[in-house]
Amino acid sequence: MSSLPPADALPSYLDPTHLGPWGVYLQQVDRVAPYLGSLARWVETLKRPKRALIVDVPIELDNGRVAHFEGYRVQHNTSRGPGKGGVRFHQDVTLSEVMALSAWMSIKNAAVNLPFGGAKGGIRVDPRTLSQSELERMTRRYTTEIGVIIGPSKDIPAPDVNTNAQTMAWMMDTYSMNEGLTSTGVVTGKPIALGGSLGRVEATGRGVFVVGCEAARDIGFDVVGARVVVQGFGNVGGTAARLFHETGAKVIAAQDHTGTIHNEFGLDVPNLLAHVAQHGGVGGFGGAEAIDSDTFWALETEFLIPAALESQIHAGNADSVRAKVVVEGANGPTTPEADDILRDKGILVVPDVVANAGGVTVSYFEWVQDFSSFFWSEDEINHRLERIMRDAFAAVSHVAREHSVTLRTAAFIVACTRILQARQVRGLYP
Ligand code: NAD
Repeated sequence: MSSLPPADALPSYLDPTHLGPWGVYLQQVDRVAPYLGSLARWVETLKRPKRALIVDVPIELDNGRVAHFEGYRVQHNTSRGPGKGGVRFHQDVTLSEVMALSAWMSIKNAAVNLPFGGAKGGIRVDPRTLSQSELERMTRRYTTEIGVIIGPSKDIPAPDVNTNAQTMAWMMDTYSMNEGLTSTGVVTGKPIALGGSLGRVEATGRGVFVVGCEAARDIGFDVVGARVVVQGFGNVGGTAARLFHETGAKVIAAQDHTGTIHNEFGLDVPNLLAHVAQHGGVGGFGGAEAIDSDTFWALETEFLIPAALESQIHAGNADSVRAKVVVEGANGPTTPEADDILRDKGILVVPDVVANAGGVTVSYFEWVQDFSSFFWSEDEINHRLERIMRDAFAAVSHVAREHSVTLRTAAFIVACTRILQARQVRGLYP
């Protein structure tokens, strides 16, 4: 006889003890619920994705065989506006992960006060195993399959891990062909030739720089002359390092997948960026000494910017961190245990949902520009981006002071409050 779960058992996606990213997200919501006052009545809204679509994506491979991939698009919440979030192509993508990522997009968009809900998509595939034309066929079939729930006023995908401007161009074209129109606003992160926005490439690093400066002002130290340590010297870390350098800060160490380098007098950032462009990483850069990873995390510095991977600051190295401020360029670079350790050491952590929201903010600008078919200068974009990032930091740090909580908890309080206020005034349909 088969053993069925008890009738009142929670579905696994509602169970906070269920391991995986969605379980982590549920715990985060539970931690914030006591701060939501009467809005806590609606908190269950945040614990369920509004809509989760699983699609079969069959394509004919170049060798004539038919392959099937599993794709997802999850709209976690659309109370404040259409869904917004990236599409990831990776062999480890799971529904739990996409659900959690979509929920974190709801939080990020609300924390920065963009008029979007949260969504995310993905295909469980190792894209390195596909040719360019197989990749195109897969992207187009996936777009058609999720086409019933995406749209410029419904849900707007963007690039994420292993997807890029070309992927977005294929998605835009497929959606437009299916609808019989030209819809540039259905995705963001497009090539400039197709309604992409100036400033998008640098937006996340610029946002990291702006909130870093705000944090310095908050604590009361000068950015000019301040030391900066950066993990990840790609799009986010490289841009942030360049902007700090141009302002007069000293980037004293950098780490990426090719090595870890240090110069207490400050690295020559423009030359380092050129070295990375030529050699693919910071390893082997002249004018700096190679150091080991333990030494890197323990460097005395004003700014520590993890801008590479998740879980880099963990229970094993958090205690050695000697930074005044950690600005999370990457998503989830600090584990919950490390978060507590940093808090107890009095280190200010600007959480990812605020610190790296510059990218989705300029995605929002792209969407607005596409809708109005009127495009802004890069200066205008950077100016507006800086204002949104500064306002977001101010709102979150105000709540952190009010409740004596970390900026991360404060960001969740701000975001959940905004989402649930919208939920409440909209009322329940029908
Ligand atoms: P990228 O690919 O341009 O750069 C990644 C960097 O991480 C590279 O310098 C790489 O060498 C380094 N890296 C990889 N493995 C490493 C390892 N084991 N140890 C040390 N360094 C390692 O990526 P990116 O766009 O700069 O994104 C970096 C992070 O920021 C990711 O977590 C991403 O999710 C997050 N993020 C990016 C954006 C965006 O707009 N690009 C927006 C929000 C969040």
